[in-house]
Parts: sequence; C-alpha cells; structure tokens
Amino acid sequence: MNVHDSDTISQILINKGYKKTDSINDAHIILINTCTVRQKAEQKALTLIGRLASLKRKRPDIISGIIGCVAQEQGTNLFKRFPFIDLVLGPRNIYHIDDFLAQIKEGRGKASSIDLTWEPTLFTNDNGYLKGKVTSFLKIMEGCDNFCSYCIVPFVRGRETSLPAEDIINKSKYLISQGIQEITLIGQNVNSYNTKNKTMPTFPGLLKELDSIGGLKRLRFITSHPKDLSDELIGSFGELKSLCAHIHLPVQSGSDTILNLMNRRYTRDKYISLVERIKKVRPDITITSDLIVGFPGETEKDFEDSLQLIDTIAFDNLFSFKYSERPKTKALQLPGKLDEKEKQRRLSVLQERQRKITLSKNTLMEGTIQEVLVEGPGKKGNGQLTGRTSGNKVANFFAKKNFKGQLVRVKIIKGFQNSLLGELVDKYNQKVY
Ligand code: SAM
Ligand code: SF4
Repeated sequence: MNVHDSDTISQILINKGYKKTDSINDAHIILINTCTVRQKAEQKALTLIGRLASLKRKRPDIISGIIGCVAQEQGTNLFKRFPFIDLVLGPRNIYHIDDFLAQIKEGRGKASSIDLTWEPTLFTNDNGYLKGKVTSFLKIMEGCDNFCSYCIVPFVRGRETSLPAEDIINKSKYLISQGIQEITLIGQNVNSYNTKNKTMPTFPGLLKELDSIGGLKRLRFITSHPKDLSDELIGSFGELKSLCAHIHLPVQSGSDTILNLMNRRYTRDKYISLVERIKKVRPDITITSDLIVGFPGETEKDFEDSLQLIDTIAFDNLFSFKYSERPKTKALQLPGKLDEKEKQRRLSVLQERQRKITLSKNTLMEGTIQEVLVEGPGKKGNGQLTGRTSGNKVANFFAKKNFKGQLVRVKIIKGFQNSLLGELVDKYNQKVY
C-alpha cells in the first residue's frame, strides 16, 4: 500500500513538473512516507526523520514532510518533536500534495492535513512515467472496517471506502494503453469491495469486467480477508482467464482461541476448508499468508496449533511477525502479554519451519512448465531475464532476446528458497537456444 502511495505522490509531482532525484543531497523536497502497523516500522521512520535535521540546518530551503500513517496517528504533534518539518499529511490527503507544497513555498507557513475523507484524483501520466513498466498496482479501496484487535489500520486509514467500478475500469484501460500487462488490485480488504453499496458491482463482478477488457494479460489482487471469501470469488479462479493462480490469504493464527481474541471472525477449520475449496477450483494455485506470534495470551499449545496449521496448508510463503502493541487497539487491554525473548523464540521456530516448506514447494516445481511474464533483466546482471509465474514466484532464465512484457514458457530446472531457475522452452517444450 505504501509503495503504491509513494508512487502516486511521485506521479502527481512529476505531472506538475517536478523531477525525481536519486540523491537526497540534490533534493529540494524530501517526503518520508511512513508505516505504523508495527512499532518497529514507526521507530525506523522516526529515526530517519530525525536524521533530516542536520540536512535542513545546512540547506534551510529544503521542504521536508512526513506522510502516511505515522503522520495520521501523531498529527501536528510531529511539528513539536521535529520543528524543522514543514508538512504533515495523512494517507488520504496525498492526492492534494501539490496544493500543500504550494502553500509552504508561498511562505504561508507549515501545512498539515489528517482529513479522513477520500477523494482520489484519477490522473494520467502523459510524461512517460509508465514507459518501460510491465506491472502496476491499482488501489480500488481505502481503509478498513474490520477492527482486528491488534491492528491500527482502521484508526489511521479510516473507514472502508471503495472507488467506483467505472473509475477502476477506465484507469485499467489507460494503464493497458500505456503498455501495462499485469494489474494488481490493492486494498486492505479487497474482497469486501463495495459490500456496502448494492448498486455497484461486487468484487467478483469487478474482476469479471476487468477480465473482459482486451489487452490485459494478468490480473491479481491483494489482500483478501478469509471471512469475506465468497463462493463466487472462489469460482472466479476457475473462470477468468487473466486471473493469476495466487491468493494471499492472511490467517494470523492457527488457534481458535487466539483467532477469537483477534476478532478475525473465522475458525481454523473454516480457513482450512476455504483453502481446500480454492484448490479444488484451481489445483495449481499458490497460497501465501500472514501470521502473528506472541499475541497476548498465546499459550505454547496455541503456538503449536499455528505450527501445525502451516504444515497442514503448506503455504508457498508466509509473512510472519511478532505481536506489536499498537495505540488505540483492543489487544492493548488483554492480559497475558509475552516477553520479547519468547516472542522472538516463537518467531524463529515458525520461520525455520516455513523456510523448509517454501523450499520444498519450490523444489517440487522442478520439471514443470511455467508461464512467466518477463519484467526485464535479472538482478545479477549476468544476462538472465526475470519475471514472475502466475503463482507469483520469481523465475530467472537465460535468453538471447529481450522478452520484456511478454508471456513466455519456462521449464523450471531448480527451485531455490526465494526464486526459481528455468530455461526458455517452445510450445513443444523444447529448449530454446
Ligand atoms: N488487511 C490485511 C489482513 O487482514 O490480513 C493485512 C493488513 S496489515 C497492514 C499486514 C499484516 O501486518 C497483517 O496481516 C498482520 O499479520 C500484521 N500486523 C498488523 N498489526 C500487527 C501488530 N500489531 N503486530 C504484529 N503484526 C501486525
Ligand atoms: Fe488490520 Fe484486520 Fe483491517 Fe487487515 S482486516 S487491515 S489486519 S483491521
């Protein structure tokens, strides 16, 4: 979400004539987009902001701003803590960034807004910003109404608001016209898109409409909440040709007691049955998830339940976190807090177990043929091309031609921890030299 928001700010400012620089020392405007989902992320952002003080002393003409969820949470208090900051802007206010910058430049003092209305302006990028890009995020909703007991998101991103389907379709058509081949729809809880407005298409309806747009090779979405995963959405994986074979479905815990305390509104069995149903419709689907260890009151048995669950499901990948106390959340009041050392121990055990599962799943892909959307040269700079499989795994392979933006057939010859190595094959599965 923050990658997308930072990108949106860049695009708006470039459209207004600003230029991007790779060096902070050349910058006239420095905006730090912040995350507050865990304390560590917030701390990192605050440390980075603190470091701007000396730069601002040397070059007082710099405009510096704090954007995003830390800005939303702490508001104008940030001006007291960091007097050299000129701008504080919550995540819903980024679409008007140039107005706030203009106010500062015109000498009308510091600017701030933590307004929670969401009025995204849809803009085009006639300045070539999308040139050479193959994939794009597209935000279809903002905020969250779920109030999981550990989570600060509903407090800093506000109530769930969906973008009209027409705007999403128009923006998609525009992205495709600019050469984008793969669109990932994003939102805190994409599968509850438009549930409040019955006159608009639901999420599966939106996917259907997007799938029928000519020229879109791939469609993805992230993140889905298990409680809102409808039969219709599961069915989409078997019906829509552009919809990729991947779902990120955060489970958070394998223990019913903890799921209940987390206010997740599903049980472990319900989660397992959802996964079984998705796999029935799309057997090759990859499933990734998020999991928190050390939630207040999590016993050794609850933790065991999480370990067993990751064995049962065999996630392709798992993002796991130590529970972090967040302001305003219900979990703050819960008894049974675990100490840092125990949380770290559980995290290490879980991550080690998952590493083995991920590696074995990647190894199992050896010998299979995967369709890869080529994104460009690989990181190693050794002539390899890189792209992603439909299941969202990174695949690298050697090729003499530049296939950027094309779907190619790749035979997987080696599965590693974080990527796959393959070779280009033709439609008869013969190696292409
Ligand atoms: N909306 C998504 C969902 O329901 O799964 C996730 C959004 S949240 C920004 C991303 C992940 O951060 C969550 O899935 C959760 O695992 C983790 N997270 C959120 N609050 C946390 C906390 N207080 N401590 C540790 N991890 C947390
Ligand atoms: Fe946070 Fe839960 Fe909303 Fe996800 S669904 S953003 S974890 S409150």
